[in-house]
This record gives sequence, structure tokens and C-alpha cells, in this order.
Amino acid sequence: MKLFQNQTAVLVTKHAKERVIRPIFEQKTGCAVIVEHGYDTDLLGTFSREVDRRNSQLKTARTKIDEGMKLVNANLGIASEGSFMEYYGLPIPWNIELVLLYDKQEDRETYGIYESAETNLHHQTVRSFEEVMQFANRIGFPEHYIVMRPDHERSSQIIKDINTYEKLEDSFKWCEKHSIVGTVFIETDMRAHANPTRMDNIEKATLNLIEKLHTFCPACGAPGFIIQEVIRGLPCEKCGTPSELALRYVSRCYKCKHTQEQYYPKGHSAPPKYCNRCNP
Ligand SMILES: [Zn+2]
Ligand SMILES: [Zn+2]
Repeated sequence: MKLFQNQTAVLVTKHAKERVIRPIFEQKTGCAVIVEHGYDTDLLGTFSREVDRRNSQLKTARTKIDEGMKLVNANLGIASEGSFMEYYGLPIPWNIELVLLYDKQEDRETYGIYESAETNLHHQTVRSFEEVMQFANRIGFPEHYIVMRPDHERSSQIIKDINTYEKLEDSFKWCEKHSIVGTVFIETDMRAHANPTRMDNIEKATLNLIEKLHTFCPACGAPGFIIQEVIRGLPCEKCGTPSELALRYVSRCYKCKHTQEQYYPKGHSAPPKYCNRCNP
């Protein structure tokens, strides 16, 4: 018997995330996934900046699940939320995809994560259709959609769903005409249905969630027995000072509170470059 056999899950999405989430969930856990389009997730934030996201990634995913469970009578709620940032202060775009599952009966939250530098996050200010075409060829248009605005990235005039060469040309002409300074701002569309690179990352986050759900508590058999805490302080191999690297992992069962510790998950000592004393 599969984990969620005969159970129903609601997935709130506006951007076709069910394409990757539903088949994996139904096949691996046995539940039926109902896709709910009745809640406008853009109210919680958009990548094209018309609405800035006010809450954290996790909190936003929780809100989507709450809204979905108001609309559909289901024991399980699923939501996905992505974020893009710079990789530790470097100018490398970094994508973190989160897929969250809430089990109402068990009052248990489990999440899957996938982090990647594969983002296809690009933008450019252009003055000619030739430049638009160069950009389009570089980013994998038309499978990856384009978003366009007159002038600059914060213009309130915005054209989305550009996914044919005809729309690309028409949109450019329109933006050029409505531009005050003669420039057009173009960028890759980061919504899941418009960005296959991002959709792949959501699929991997979903698989990570499935894997976590299928890690069972050795004491009571409950699902989702995963690392809850990372204790740092692995001693430096040169001077023995506790470093920032993990000394042990702590896994804890949400149900019976059984705890398991794994010492030295990354080896018995830390290279001196991670030591605050040897490499301050
Ligand atoms: Zn347990
Ligand atoms: Zn040291």
C-alpha cells in the first residue's frame, strides 16, 4: 500500500505546476491530486515585480495551502514557491524551489527543496528588434517565454505570455511606441509554465519531498524522518578549534519524538580553510 492511498490532495497553482507535481505525487504516494485554479497566487507576489512578495518562501507556500484547503475538501495540501537571489553575494543567479506538503490529519508539514544555478534568469534593455531576436535566441525562446515593458523594469505597462515570433514583434513595436526614452526592457518569464528550466527545478524539489516522505521513523514507522537540525563545530584538522562545518545531524520523529544523531556526516575533521583561527 502506498503512503497516501485513497487520500485527496489539493494543489493550488496558477502556472501549471501540476504538469510535474501531479504525476509524481499520484504515482509515488497513491493520492489523487486535485488542481485548484480558483485562488490567484499572483496576489502573494510576482517575479515581474507588479506585486512584491511580502512573506518568506515557506510562509507564502503555507498561505497557498490554506487557501486551497478552503476551496477543496482534502486531507492533503500541496504548494510550491520559488525564489531567485544572488549566490552568497556573488553576481550568480540562484534558484531555490520549495514544494510543501501539509497533512491535516497528522498536522504534519514536510517540504522538498532543490537549489540550482540553472535558472535562465536574464534581462536586457534594447533599442532594436535585432537585439530582441539576439536575446530570444540566447534564452531558448519560444519554449522560454519573454516579458516586455517600455522604458525600464518598473514600468507599469507590461506584456506577458510572449511565446510566438509574431507576438514578439508586435510587443516590441507596441513597447517602442509607448516608450518615453526610446528603450524597451525585456526579460525571461520566470513563471513555471513559461520557463522549462524552472519547471525542471520544481520537479526535482518534488522528488526531494517524495524521498523525505519515504524516510520512516525507525521507532514508530511514521513518514518524514529527516534531519531537523545541523549542529556545527567539526574540529579543525590543524588546531582542533570547532569550525562552521557540521559535527552532527539530528533527525527527529514528528510523532513519537524518537531522535537519532549522526556524528561526522562530512568526515572527522575540517580543512583549515573553514577554521576561524587558522583562516580568520
Ligand atoms: Zn516515530
Ligand atoms: Zn584551525
